[in-house]
Amino acid sequence: MSTKEKALTPRLVKKLWLAFVLLVVLMGASYIFITGYLTNKHNQAITQRVNANVAEHVIQEKFQNASPFLEDGTVNKELFGDLMHDMMAVNRSIEVYLLNKLGEIQYSVVLEHKENEPMKTVSLAPIHSFVNSKGKEFVVGDDPLNPGEEKIFSAAPFNVDGKEGFVYIILAGKEFELISDNLLGQYFTKLGIGATLLTMLFAAIIGMLSIWFLTKNLRLITHTVRKFQEGDLDIRIENPQESDIEVFAHSFNDMADTIVDNMDKMKSVDTLRRELIANVSHDLRTPLAILKGYVETLQIKRDSLTEAQKDEYLQITHDNIDKLSNLINQLFDYSKLEAEQVVPIKEPFSITELSHDLIAKFKVIADKKSVELELDNPKDNCMVFADVSLVERALQNLLENAIKYTEPNGKVTLSLIKKQSDVEINITDTGAGIPANEQPFIFDRYKQVDKSAQKKSGYGLGLAIVKKIMDLHETTITVLSKPKEGSTFIFNLPAYQA
Ligand code: ADP
Repeated sequence: MSTKEKALTPRLVKKLWLAFVLLVVLMGASYIFITGYLTNKHNQAITQRVNANVAEHVIQEKFQNASPFLEDGTVNKELFGDLMHDMMAVNRSIEVYLLNKLGEIQYSVVLEHKENEPMKTVSLAPIHSFVNSKGKEFVVGDDPLNPGEEKIFSAAPFNVDGKEGFVYIILAGKEFELISDNLLGQYFTKLGIGATLLTMLFAAIIGMLSIWFLTKNLRLITHTVRKFQEGDLDIRIENPQESDIEVFAHSFNDMADTIVDNMDKMKSVDTLRRELIANVSHDLRTPLAILKGYVETLQIKRDSLTEAQKDEYLQITHDNIDKLSNLINQLFDYSKLEAEQVVPIKEPFSITELSHDLIAKFKVIADKKSVELELDNPKDNCMVFADVSLVERALQNLLENAIKYTEPNGKVTLSLIKKQSDVEINITDTGAGIPANEQPFIFDRYKQVDKSAQKKSGYGLGLAIVKKIMDLHETTITVLSKPKEGSTFIFNLPAYQA
């Protein structure tokens, strides 16, 4: 087993863990942020609600006895100074403002100590909604000391000596914020640490369990793959449809099936190849031994042999040389076809003409055997689109067989039948025929129906070559045959329409 495979699962688990920790940290951070934000808002809402009436009280208590304005119309700074001091004595974080009805600041003690340029007018909209809701609505308004910031406030309208305006009290001034932030900070440090630790603990437990469950199928598949790799070719992932990684489980099973199939095919190809080599060497040896015997006899008994005997011996050697070259040619053709080195060069040609030529060529052999050989439908010129030399080779093998396996006085017919888009070629004989159970195998190399047929100079390669040629033309060859009645080999070639 390679280290790569070993590292696969732990690396995946690490990644899952990393993703999980990241998720937990993000969740923790969001949790703390949301809680902090809501708690802050909640605190402000409580502070505003509790102090909602402060401004109203100021008006009722202070403005009853003394007017907030002097006779000349200016603000009664003394009254406000007292007021501010009273209030700040109770709560240092509040800031009190006197506004006219337009929201312009008329006076405030805090403004005296201000370094930055304070706001001169505050927005009236929040004040109106606060007053209208009688302090029940949570609303924030402008903080004159910090332009752009919004604070909780209490406000109440007044109408004294014909002057209208508002008392506007910022409830959460600088000091309030400092204390609040400080407390919140401490609280959140504790809450943050506690919550994070707790979340981490739960996350670790849930994480471990989920990673275990998630990788359970993966572990099972890894185990199966490893077993397969170690040579257990029958092992498969059980119930792949129930796996969390169903596609992967199915793919592995399919892949294993394909590998096993291919191995079986290769084994059978290998067996056939060995068989072929064994048989071919036998077939090569026989004519060679005969050749050697006759040549030796001719050498030794050259003087004592009659001319007729010498001619006979030479004829035998000649025949055996033919046999050998025939076998070697067949082997050469077959191995080229099997190695897919042959690329058909398709062109239009007249199969009728080719058939005429072949019939003429085989007539001599057929006559010698007293077998009648004829071409059916010789007048109709049939054009096909195919590789002429390969088709010639196939027809030669088929005619050779037909004549070879037909007894004297029998008949071999080559017929050409024009079909719609094809030309059907039949090679029929009245010979030995092929038993039904043997028919499926005759196109496999080195399968001879009857081993004694070998005597008829066959090598079991002829039909295998024909089959390969048919494959190259994307067509098939079939055989109809009955023992003792004869056989018909049928194939189609695409017709050529000029
Ligand atoms: P061979 O060289 O032995 O003829 P083939 O591949 O040409 O090899 O044929 C395979 C086998 O199929 C032959 O051995 C024979 O048994 C059978 N066969 C082929 N053609 C015929 C035929 N026309 N009639 C009867 N048997 C045939």
